[in-house]
Amino acid sequence: MTLPRLAIDLGKIEHNARTLVARLARSGITVTSVTKAILGDPEIAAGLLGSGVSGLGDSRIENIEKMRRAGIKSEIALIRTPMLSQIDRVVRHADMSFNTELDVIAALSSAAKKANKMHGVVLMVELGDLREGVMPDDIVKTVGAMLCLPNIVFKGIGANLACLSGISPGEANMTTLSELADSIDAKFGPITDIVSGGNSANIEWALSGADTGRINNLRLGEAILFGREALHRQPIDGLHQDAMELVAEVIEAKIKPSLPWGVIAQNAFGEINQSSDRGPTSRVIVAVGRQDIDPTGLRPPPGFEILGASSDHLVLDAGSNHVCVGDEITFQINYSAFLRAMTSPFVGQVLATQANHGYSRQQTSAAFVP
Ligand SMILES: *Cc1c(COP(=O)(O)O)cnc(C)c1O
Repeated sequence: MTLPRLAIDLGKIEHNARTLVARLARSGITVTSVTKAILGDPEIAAGLLGSGVSGLGDSRIENIEKMRRAGIKSEIALIRTPMLSQIDRVVRHADMSFNTELDVIAALSSAAKKANKMHGVVLMVELGDLREGVMPDDIVKTVGAMLCLPNIVFKGIGANLACLSGISPGEANMTTLSELADSIDAKFGPITDIVSGGNSANIEWALSGADTGRINNLRLGEAILFGREALHRQPIDGLHQDAMELVAEVIEAKIKPSLPWGVIAQNAFGEINQSSDRGPTSRVIVAVGRQDIDPTGLRPPPGFEILGASSDHLVLDAGSNHVCVGDEITFQINYSAFLRAMTSPFVGQVLATQANHGYSRQQTSAAFVP
């Protein structure tokens, strides 16, 4: 089996999705499953759709096209504002897109008219995280302008917090979003269908029992894949945190001193060695590196400690574990390490399904298919 590889348990992912869909349904909130971290893998996407999510969302048109090519027909939203250079592809493959610029919406309108299609638009509102969004005071005016554009359907509004500046979603900003939906509908009639409150950072707020107002959708990636909310990275009750693991192969195992010797300057990444003397250590190298993973996002098995990583080598203190060359070591992995591993052509993916509790697919080829 290919090494290094991500072992992905689709049964656990589906369980997480089903559980979140059921819990959020109590507050009238649907779940858009965000597929960017899995690069639009059609098999996982199909499993997610079977778990009751209302649709799929991805930030990259390439991933959306991959899912379309694989025959996925359900609703897919492009959740990043489209590039002007990709407008035709967006109109062709995405049912709707998230937008913040009238120029882009006008280009979507022309492209949709030419393709004889309708394209949905969710307008993103800036609520303080200072990533994307139209300023709240400009929302009603912007909706008015886009209502005149042919082949564009105004679907609703959305917000994205806790991404760039770590601003927490809560009572205050979610109420602002609800009130904006009311202002739009007061001016133009009941046209605001979707009010998408945010991402996995909204989980605490959404499940707290607080009044969720007009928020009727969340876009979830991390919460489904990793079973954690994204504000404090706490596990969500009843969800799996270990649906994804990284398996890598040992290529060196030796007893070495714990302190480097010679004249110390910067390492390959501009860092200065800070290790302290712990005497002779059982050091192992596994064949995976910063090109494939974020070393701070890996948790090794008990008794192991990660000492450092270069582009292609991850070095561990094996403690009292007996390790031989050729052994496989399995790591727990977080979202950021997973993202990098998924986009590394050197890391394979093996999907396990609940049905057979075994490995049903081996993808040894490059993970990144443009
Ligand atoms: C990535 C992304 C999400 C999903 O974020 P998670 O924290 O993984 O749930 C939601 N909305 C937008 C706009 C995104 O870019």
